Amino acid sequence: MNERHFPCEYCDTALPLQARRVTLTLQRNGRWYIFENVPAEVCPNCGHRYYDGPTLVQLERLIEEQADQLRPVEAWAFSLPVEAL
Ligand SMILES: [Zn+2]
Repeated sequence: MNERHFPCEYCDTALPLQARRVTLTLQRNGRWYIFENVPAEVCPNCGHRYYDGPTLVQLERLIEEQADQLRPVEAWAFSLPVEAL
């Protein structure tokens, strides 16, 4: 029997996921939200990030409640023109 374990569902690496702190952006109602130091498990091969459910619930709650911990930041955005195919 092949008991090989596949830690990542997006690639076939056998390397274990690594616990890291990452920056995550979410867009809600036309606003961008940037979360820093978010705990994640990261695939060392393809870079896919896995977040646990409670962490994501916490972030959604911060957005929903417009929590005091949220601070505005200045940002610049530019959209590249989309060429007709
Ligand atoms: Zn992977």
